[in-house]
Amino acid sequence: MLVDGFGRVGRDLRVSLTDRCNLRCSYCMPEAGLTWLPQPGLLTDAEVVRLVRIGVDLGIHSIRFTGGEPLLRPGLVDIISQTAALPNRPHLSMTTNGIGLALMAPDLKAAGLDRVNVSLDTLSPETFKQISHRDRLADVLAGLDAAAAAGLLPVKVNAVLLRGVNSGEAGALLDYCINRGFDLRFIEQMPLDPQHGWKRDEMVTADEVLELLRADRRIEPDPNELRGSAPAELFLVDGGPARVGVIASVTRPFCADCDRVRLTADGAIRTCLFARHETELRDFMRAGGDDVGLAALFRQSMLGKKRGHDIGDPEFAQPTRPMSAIGG
Ligand code: SAM
Ligand code: SF4
Repeated sequence: MLVDGFGRVGRDLRVSLTDRCNLRCSYCMPEAGLTWLPQPGLLTDAEVVRLVRIGVDLGIHSIRFTGGEPLLRPGLVDIISQTAALPNRPHLSMTTNGIGLALMAPDLKAAGLDRVNVSLDTLSPETFKQISHRDRLADVLAGLDAAAAAGLLPVKVNAVLLRGVNSGEAGALLDYCINRGFDLRFIEQMPLDPQHGWKRDEMVTADEVLELLRADRRIEPDPNELRGSAPAELFLVDGGPARVGVIASVTRPFCADCDRVRLTADGAIRTCLFARHETELRDFMRAGGDDVGLAALFRQSMLGKKRGHDIGDPEFAQPTRPMSAIGG
């Protein structure tokens, strides 16, 4: 098993399939983009599947494909079908910006993908362009509907609120999601942008999100919530059954129950989004390292998992990799 020094067990592996993206969300990437990871350094499809298999053998039971934008990975469907064919098949999900999902959703479902998280911060084409520097809202909305039609359920929606940009849309996003049967989660903005633009006193906190939603609906903690290691706190909307989630990574960190571990597109294990250290598996593997050695490195990296992320600590320093190269 993947046990860390504080007794937490790694069960949820986030697999970044690329650091590239077709959007430039201001909280994640500069408008001009980034220098992409060099192609030969990226794990091949077979290498991704091999490392996932080793993770599953070590007790991982949930895989989330992410990036960058995972739909840009040419071998995505094959990677999913090979992962779905593993013994002890893990639960398979993907976090995506939804661009291209309208076309790919049926193939992804047929390959074995169980469900998707789609990022949607606004319902206004202008605000979408302002946040992501691209005019693609219609593609995202079509992608969401296609995901639901293909049975990639439950469809979850991730939203980051930015003060004065889309913070006035909290209620509208919730209504949109409830009307379509999507599960909405608001995520507090984290200091992971390479521009270092994040300021704690400017971020929209989880409490503020709840206050915004309470302007015209009842929002109460869900008494039946079994949160476990889930990052989202769930609230009933107007008594339920509709719910809304808030991921308060900054103001109410959930590190004590974290079961997540990350594999970057270039083959490094990161035990926290905010880790300052990572364990390189790619070069060991390419030098002929066997599964036993890779599993030992995987386990060893877990022992270095920090107790918590320390945002707010005067000593806190942003990781050198931006969010898009870590895998959100
Ligand atoms: N491109 C895909 C997408 O946008 O869903 C997957 C990768 S993206 C890095 C994963 C999630 O991280 C998205 O929901 C995005 O909104 C979120 N994210 C990115 N930067 C963030 C930040 N600085 N703080 C909080 N969430 C962030
Ligand atoms: Fe791309 Fe996702 Fe980052 Fe937006 S949040 S720039 S869609 S990787």
